[in-house]
Amino acid sequence: MKQEKLVIVGSGPAGYTAAVYASRANLNPVLYAGNVPGGLLTQTTEVENFPGFPEGIQGFDLVMAMQQQAERFGTRVEYDSVVKFELTDGGVQTLHLESGEIVETRALILATGASPRYLGLPAEERLRNHGVSACATCDGAFYKDVPVVVIGGGDSAMEEAIFLTRFASKVYVIHRRDALRASPIMAERAQANAKIEFVWNSEVEDILGQDHVEGVRLRNNRDNSVREIACRGYFAALGHVPNTLLVKEFIATDEKGYIKVAPDRSLTTLAGVFAAGDCADPHYRQAITAAGMGCKAAMDAERYLESLA
Ligand code: NDP
Repeated sequence: MKQEKLVIVGSGPAGYTAAVYASRANLNPVLYAGNVPGGLLTQTTEVENFPGFPEGIQGFDLVMAMQQQAERFGTRVEYDSVVKFELTDGGVQTLHLESGEIVETRALILATGASPRYLGLPAEERLRNHGVSACATCDGAFYKDVPVVVIGGGDSAMEEAIFLTRFASKVYVIHRRDALRASPIMAERAQANAKIEFVWNSEVEDILGQDHVEGVRLRNNRDNSVREIACRGYFAALGHVPNTLLVKEFIATDEKGYIKVAPDRSLTTLAGVFAAGDCADPHYRQAITAAGMGCKAAMDAERYLESLA
């Protein structure tokens, strides 16, 4: 059994910012990087809106720089995942790791992020990694000169669609409404791209193909007409669900599963447990807001640990 003062769970901008602040405050934190080291930023392309990078920066490079910065001040980054939490109000927090190790800590920062949402069709499960993906950056290159579909109408859908035009012969963006949720700048870029075709008011009824994706069957929700589109890739860009399944039984979450924190703070319903980033942010979900929340969580944890001394 390992004893720690402060454990940070999650390795996106929230986790690493918390780590930078906590290690500079001599709290000697250990950070468990989780199943997706670097988090969602490693699955995006260029980040254009993180202040300080006027030319933009690749998401992967940004989060790696954050990791280096945290390690420079002494954060111990461990490539392990928490498989079970036992959380208490103001007591010792216990973490069971995938490696089998058990860790006890006085303060815990949850920065577990969010995972891509799927529609919930059985075919999405069956054909996962056989044409079904939620990460164009990871899988886009497999779809050279073949048509693909992107489901969704937000910024992620625009970004994925634009990226996929590098490889695919054609990219269909399938959206359930006739207006995009995406920001105007992203929407305009996608609409100006000759390889992208928008399919409006359409919902995916099924994905066609037994062993690999061969197409999608769509229902138009205005006139109920059914249409099939042949494609080899199916990219879900439907937003995200917070990674809070393992902590839900201990701390309050909202109806969508986001961890509830005190207004403008990182305090959860348990003393000694703090939350930051996408797992606790139903509103903004930006790299920069996650980083800001990580900073708050480290400062709140520092004050909490001081209060115990
Ligand atoms: P969003 O929640 O913004 O968009 C999700 C999209 O999926 C919406 O168009 C939504 O439709 C659709 N959708 C959700 N559930 C279903 C369903 N069951 N059936 C059909 N369609 C569905 O998520 P994003 O991941 O796009 O963006 C999240 C945040 O990250 C945003 O704040 C965004 O601005 C930011 N972001 C910024 C980027 C950038 O600036 N470059 C890049 C990527 C993300 P509907 O619109 O009808 O609700």
